[in-house]
Amino acid sequence: MKTGALLVSISALALVACSAPKQESAALGSEVGASNQDLAPVRRILVQDQAEYKEAVKNAQPGDMIVLANGEWNDFDAVFKGVGTAEAPIWLSAETEGNVFLTGQSSLRLGGEHLIVSGLVFRNGYTPRNEVISFRVDSKLLANNSRVSHTVIDDFNNPDRSQRDIWVVMYGKNNEFDHNHLAGKLNSGPTMAIRLNTEESQENSHFVHHNYFGPRPVLGSNGGETFRIGTSHYSLTNSNSRVEHNYFDRCSGEVEIISNKSGGNTFRNNTFFESRGTLTLRHGNGNLIENNLFDGNGTPYTGGVRVINAQQTIKNNYFKDLTGKRFSGGLVVMNGVPNSPINRYHQVNGAMIEGNVFENIAAMELGEGSDNERSAVPINSSFKNNTIISDDGVSPITLHDDMSGIEFSGNKSNQAPPEAISSGFEVEPNLKQKIDASEYGVPREATGVSWYPKVGTGSPFDTGKDIAVSPDENAISNAIKTAEAGDRLVLAPGSYNEAKIIELDFPITIVAEENGSVDLSFERKNMFVLSGKAGLKLSGVNVSGARAPDNVGNSFITTTSVGGGSNHTLIIQNSTFSDFVVNRSFAIVNASKGTLYQDIKIINSDFSDVSGSVVKLDAETDDFGMYNVESLEIENSHFSNIAGPAVIVYRGGRDESTFGPLVSFKGSTFTNVGTAGGPSALLHGAQVLTFEGNKIEQSQPFKFVVTTGKPKPFLEGNSLNGDETASVLNIEDLRK
Ligand code: CA
Repeated sequence: MKTGALLVSISALALVACSAPKQESAALGSEVGASNQDLAPVRRILVQDQAEYKEAVKNAQPGDMIVLANGEWNDFDAVFKGVGTAEAPIWLSAETEGNVFLTGQSSLRLGGEHLIVSGLVFRNGYTPRNEVISFRVDSKLLANNSRVSHTVIDDFNNPDRSQRDIWVVMYGKNNEFDHNHLAGKLNSGPTMAIRLNTEESQENSHFVHHNYFGPRPVLGSNGGETFRIGTSHYSLTNSNSRVEHNYFDRCSGEVEIISNKSGGNTFRNNTFFESRGTLTLRHGNGNLIENNLFDGNGTPYTGGVRVINAQQTIKNNYFKDLTGKRFSGGLVVMNGVPNSPINRYHQVNGAMIEGNVFENIAAMELGEGSDNERSAVPINSSFKNNTIISDDGVSPITLHDDMSGIEFSGNKSNQAPPEAISSGFEVEPNLKQKIDASEYGVPREATGVSWYPKVGTGSPFDTGKDIAVSPDENAISNAIKTAEAGDRLVLAPGSYNEAKIIELDFPITIVAEENGSVDLSFERKNMFVLSGKAGLKLSGVNVSGARAPDNVGNSFITTTSVGGGSNHTLIIQNSTFSDFVVNRSFAIVNASKGTLYQDIKIINSDFSDVSGSVVKLDAETDDFGMYNVESLEIENSHFSNIAGPAVIVYRGGRDESTFGPLVSFKGSTFTNVGTAGGPSALLHGAQVLTFEGNKIEQSQPFKFVVTTGKPKPFLEGNSLNGDETASVLNIEDLRK
């Protein structure tokens, strides 16, 4: 199709006519303002540059299609405005869909009536505005009856994660957003939002369907929602939007996958796969959640629906293999605040929870959040004809308060529910439900576009080729120049020294051919700086800091936000680190502000003689609730003669929108650690702490500063100076 101009132009026209699956097109036509599926442009205007584009938009008439020439459109702050009609819309499309790239400082704003956009790709840049695609040009010129379809926004991230923007914002009324691909948002702000901020944008009846919402990595603070409809301020207003047949793939930015903050919305036939958090009915009344599939696939913190406010209906959904608890449970019905202010928790009133299947969900929390403030229990509600199957021998249901305001009837379970609601259940110990999951949600391949790959799963490491490396000056950095993502550098025995900093922006493994046979040293402030999509797996090496310069604050591995920072994974195993004392505050691993390690795993490794900390992740000191590591696990490792705390993790602020940081120490020893006078480790604001089978010798206990939530440290089998009954954790509680 790319070989001739004539064919290309036919394909561009055919795109609009044939973009939706056949059985959809009739429904689409009647449901959306214009029956634009069956329309073809009258005139096709191919534009080659931004000046030609502007001119074409200025002169656009109903029935025109403005076609962007294939290639890169850099720094394209595009405005698409015009007044089409239902019968003759105005199009903006790609010469060949998927071959027009908006890069650099680019955005697109729509204003007017009956506009249709399709086939564009935003990548390699970020918006200079608050939005990448906006259904308004400015506060006065909104788009109505308009559609954005078959468009991709991929990794279009401001390199400063704390800079907030929203990739897609719908304003106006009767707009449609369908078959788009939005993946990899890293910086602050929802991936997509519907706004109701003026009367012209209320009761808006937008239609959002068949989109692929690809992975949204952990943000490490509030503002990582994938989709928000409304805000608390306008939450008593209806949006009446429909969100249907969308696939949410690992949308794990924060505790809300979708934050619904308006009324009258329908969420139907969406799939939530391995997404942390819940579809949260945070504000607004009269919403319907129906026929969705919530498949956690057993991954941590996956949840279902959280119910707040009045007249919410949750029916015929399939919830499976969800591991989340409390606010992230498979089903969470909140207690409200009596006479609640608009931004707190309105009482659940008239909720209907019917015909759902809950299979192997860890928690169903009823009356969640019950406390002195949230004392208004659910009323006038029903929970009937649901099926609850649990293979682990216990009912997932917990009653946190008096649930007599919910009528339980006709439910089935293979485990006995709590006594207070047991009359509403038939218990059949051998209950097995034959569920056809395909009747719920939407298949992944039915969403997004066919011509842009969806995001794969699995480890970023060891997926490529092996590259043999022999000892030489700068041998590692030279080998990295020839390597690609997922490759392994296999180091022959011997000594390696790096005279330059290795700037890494893709995942790579560096492994000694034989454990312990390789010595590494480096001459700069850092050996590795991670940016972009960098990840590092380091195995079987002995690292010395002795040749580093006489600077304060060197570190073996650090991160930078220059050039854009993804979430990094770092694995260190079977390695030793010694002689990091050339000056003060030498660290093995640290981070720069605004960067996040998704995972750090340190396994079977030894660290000795360090003038700072082994892991120092406290770059976010402004207490905005951002942090530098989501999950840190240390296992079977040994720390000795460390001046600072061996590990520092800092998460400031009191925000409740994240799951992390999670910190775990197992089977490790800390000997003569904190010699400068501090604790052996300082964990400020961590939300999950596991401390099992560790020994602390000639050192102070760990310090754990609790700032928010109800973290319950798991402590078992530890000792302090040989005493197994001594406290290994000093807890400082900053909650009021
Ligand atoms: Ca939030």
